[in-house]
Amino acid sequence: MRDFEVSILTLRQRGVGLERFAFAAAMAGLAVTSSRVEAAEPIVVNGVVEAAGEGMLVSIEVETRWHGECVRCLDPAEGPLRVTARELFREGPTTDDTYGYHGDVLDLSELVHDLVILELPVLPLCRVDCRGLCPSCGANHNVEQCTCAPLSASAFAVLDTLESVRGDHPRVR
Ligand SMILES: [Zn+2]
Ligand SMILES: [Zn+2]
Repeated sequence: MRDFEVSILTLRQRGVGLERFAFAAAMAGLAVTSSRVEAAEPIVVNGVVEAAGEGMLVSIEVETRWHGECVRCLDPAEGPLRVTARELFREGPTTDDTYGYHGDVLDLSELVHDLVILELPVLPLCRVDCRGLCPSCGANHNVEQCTCAPLSASAFAVLDTLESVRGDHPRVR
């Protein structure tokens, strides 16, 4: 058995029943634009294969960690990734809508790959309440507070500028 492969020999011989599987292995190429699973990061896989009339029904749980760059402050971000699924594998080649298998071996690598890719964060955050960078001066608001006007007050900022141009006293807030 290679990584991500499960023997279904007994299941096929009996035609009924279920087989549990549990392993951890690494997989390369798990990345979307903004986040990824490191090539050496273990991917923990647990589940059950059941002999179903039309094929093999796989109930699977996949757990690992993702790494990326926070979209608000650009610092490194990471977090847990956990996904569960139920998928019917049919004997024969893998097609656009069905995972296939040949003989007595069920290869879960494509399913694991697809599940992880779909679950990777598209907009990763270093923490849920990340305060991000100041759009004016670039200061990291998680670390320091700058003196730029808050973004929500930009309308007032425009008024302030107009008033000071006219020589009035700046608006006091
Ligand atoms: Zn952040
Ligand atoms: Zn600023």
